[in-house]
Amino acid sequence: MNVFETVKTSINTREAAEHYGIEVNRYGKTLCPFHNDRHPSMIVYDDHYHCFACGEHGDVIDLVANLYGLPVLDAANKLAYDFGILQDKPPTKTMQEKLNKKSEAQRLKENEKLCFSALLAYMKLLQEWKVLYAPRTPEDDVDSRFSEACHWLDYVEHLVGTLIGGDSYERNDVIEMMLTDNKLTKLQKYLEKVKKEEHSIGEQTI
Ligand SMILES: [Zn+2]
Repeated sequence: MNVFETVKTSINTREAAEHYGIEVNRYGKTLCPFHNDRHPSMIVYDDHYHCFACGEHGDVIDLVANLYGLPVLDAANKLAYDFGILQDKPPTKTMQEKLNKKSEAQRLKENEKLCFSALLAYMKLLQEWKVLYAPRTPEDDVDSRFSEACHWLDYVEHLVGTLIGGDSYERNDVIEMMLTDNKLTKLQKYLEKVKKEEHSIGEQTI
C-alpha cells in the first residue's frame, strides 16, 4: 500500500478534523473552515467531508491539504506523521517545518480561548467591583474601581456573550479586535497587576 491508501484506510476523517482544531458535533456537523460559515454547513463523515454551502468535498487527505495549503502528498505524510503511522521514514527538516505549522483553525481556536479567559476574568472582576466598591452614602467619594466597572461592564459582558453565543463572523470580530494593538496582552497584564495588588492589600489588612 502507498502512503495515500495507508492514510485513507487507517485515519478517520472526523478524528483528523478534530485533531486539527475543527469541532465536530455529535451529528457530524461543523462550521466549514473553507468559507465564512454562520451555521454548521459541513458534515464530516468517517471517510469524507462535504460542505452543503460552499461545496467543498473530499477525503481525509484533501481535508488536511486544504486546511494547510499543502500538496496532497505532503498532506498524506503529515497525517501519517501526526497519527503515528509509517514512522520508518523520519521527516526531513523542511517537511518538519510544514508539519509543525498550525492550521488557521487551530490558531483561531487558541486565540479564542485566550480572549475568552481574559475577558471572562475581567468581567468577573468588574462585577465584583461594582458591588464591592459601590458608594454606600451619597457623600462617599466614588472609588475608581466602581467607575471602571460602571464604564466597562456592559461592553465586556457583551464581548463574552458574543464569544459564547455568536456565530463565526461575530466571534472572529471579537478576536480580531482583541488582537489589534495588543489589547489581549494589555488586558492580561492588567489582570495580572490587579491580582498582585489585591493580594498585597489583602495581606496588609490581615
Ligand atoms: Zn463551506
